[in-house]
Amino acid sequence: MSERNEKILVELMKFSGNNVCADCDSKNPAYASYNLGIFICERCSGVHRSMGVHISKVKHLKLDKWEDSQVERMKEVGNKRAKMKYEERVPPCYRIPKEDDPHILIEQWIRAKYQREEFCYPERQSYTSGYFSGFLMKRGKEDSRYRSRKFILSEQDDTLKYYITEYKDPKAILRISELNVVLSPEKMSPYINSLQITFLKDGTTRHIYVYHDEAEVITNWYMAIRCAKLHRLQVAYPSDSQTELSKYLTEDFAKEGWLWKTGPRTSDGFKKRWFALDNRKLMYHDDPMDANPKGEIFIGHMADGYGIKMGVSTGVKDQGFSFMLTTPDRVYNLSAQSEIDRDLWIEVLERVIEKPLTAQDIAVSARLVRKRTSSNSISIFSPR
Ligand SMILES: [Zn+2]
Repeated sequence: MSERNEKILVELMKFSGNNVCADCDSKNPAYASYNLGIFICERCSGVHRSMGVHISKVKHLKLDKWEDSQVERMKEVGNKRAKMKYEERVPPCYRIPKEDDPHILIEQWIRAKYQREEFCYPERQSYTSGYFSGFLMKRGKEDSRYRSRKFILSEQDDTLKYYITEYKDPKAILRISELNVVLSPEKMSPYINSLQITFLKDGTTRHIYVYHDEAEVITNWYMAIRCAKLHRLQVAYPSDSQTELSKYLTEDFAKEGWLWKTGPRTSDGFKKRWFALDNRKLMYHDDPMDANPKGEIFIGHMADGYGIKMGVSTGVKDQGFSFMLTTPDRVYNLSAQSEIDRDLWIEVLERVIEKPLTAQDIAVSARLVRKRTSSNSISIFSPR
């Protein structure tokens, strides 16, 4: 009997929809949830198991023994039908995870789908109303200690505020439409339920780092910011589709890591800096968790004099894995830790340089450049 069941399962897996994981789209799922009737990958099977058997019953497709009724259930449901039910009302601002996304995103997506059934019952989506508030642990700018701070998101005012003392004026007011947020950045480990919020203040970038003990809370904050951003964009661009606008809500940094860079003079030595590429902004810091970058380089389009290539400028000593970033104002000599890392940096920067500028990019560039003369703030053209 079991051999027959194994054959049926193999046949079922060939159907479109069943050949990828029901939750993260990765290819060739090896597991199944036999009560939900879906085919899933190894990683997602772990999340399914963690929810408990009252939500999801997991089996390996080949290594476990299958009963007729269980195979029957797989035949009856399958990934496509399950999607229609459990993903029926996913709001357009929700970031649906892909295979390589942070674990928290995948975990919370699976729990939202099957445990909380948020996409069957939209009234359970606490993050779509445009207002969100609560306490988050925020890293201090100077002493790097985390302290509890009240945060309030208001789509109507286009603000995200935080308070040191609840009944006093906010410590900071951020414009929702101008901020970017990254969920669970690796450098914040061991705080996995974390956000890095990045925004422009006085012509320079500021990073805020927060975390919460509960993964669901921090994910809800992330989605709430995305939802508020989407609604603001819909007002500004009423003729654009939600699907199109939802591409511009949040953007993970294309790459982060250590590089060595020289100063503006060829005689300057190479200094180790933590680089982060946020859309068209290449920022560098002393420390990965700094609140402000030491300098920021706006990466424009190739037609405007931006370029990237391997090697060093004349007179500069090659550090082994060097490359040059050319902007209309100067050439940056940079060096990576390995050949692979250098090639990855060149690849991501090339992609940016080849991409046409959006209206938002132009606005960011103008705000960064306009402030460059103020003596105290960090300047993008006189890097230290
Ligand atoms: Zn998966």
